[in-house]
Amino acid sequence: MNKVSTLNLAAFLPRTRASGPGLRSALWVQGCALRCEGCFNPGFQTFGGGYETTVTEVIALLLAQPDTGGVSFSGGEPFTQAAALSEVAEAMRSAGKGVLIFTGYEAEALRANRNLGVQRLLAAADLLAAGPYRRDLPQLHPLLASTNQELVYLTGRYRGAELGPRRSEFRIGAGGMVSATGFPVAL
Ligand code: SF4
Repeated sequence: MNKVSTLNLAAFLPRTRASGPGLRSALWVQGCALRCEGCFNPGFQTFGGGYETTVTEVIALLLAQPDTGGVSFSGGEPFTQAAALSEVAEAMRSAGKGVLIFTGYEAEALRANRNLGVQRLLAAADLLAAGPYRRDLPQLHPLLASTNQELVYLTGRYRGAELGPRRSEFRIGAGGMVSATGFPVAL
């Protein structure tokens, strides 16, 4: 029997306009070893939290959103779960949807990484927002939080696409809990 690929997720949003171009889904993986000072999602750094789900379930959730144009992977660090996420990314691309990845690694380091999952995920992505967050170099870009980070277009899909405006979204969940998505709109 084939092994079922699993993902450890921190959060999932089926529809958002605050995580990349247009209406899209977003998922946040659990776990990041980079530990940037001032990280926006410190609760997603530990590898012990999150919830486990299968790649099959994630793909089904994403494909249940017919009017979204793509998906964004964030975290946590997506490239620590690259092999499983590459299966999700390939399924999205086959469905005609775009793939944007927020990563704390520099694009050059990812390209030089010999891990097959990392290379497969790079090959299935359209756009990277790449580089560690630097609290001392803040900026108000729609997708980048500090000036050392860069957008890396891996395909032509998002070249020339409207990326802004920079947005924050707030949701009120059951019990009145408020959750935020996106980027702060002031420094
Ligand atoms: S790479 Fe992202 S998730 Fe990881 S510590 Fe830095 S800001 Fe936080």
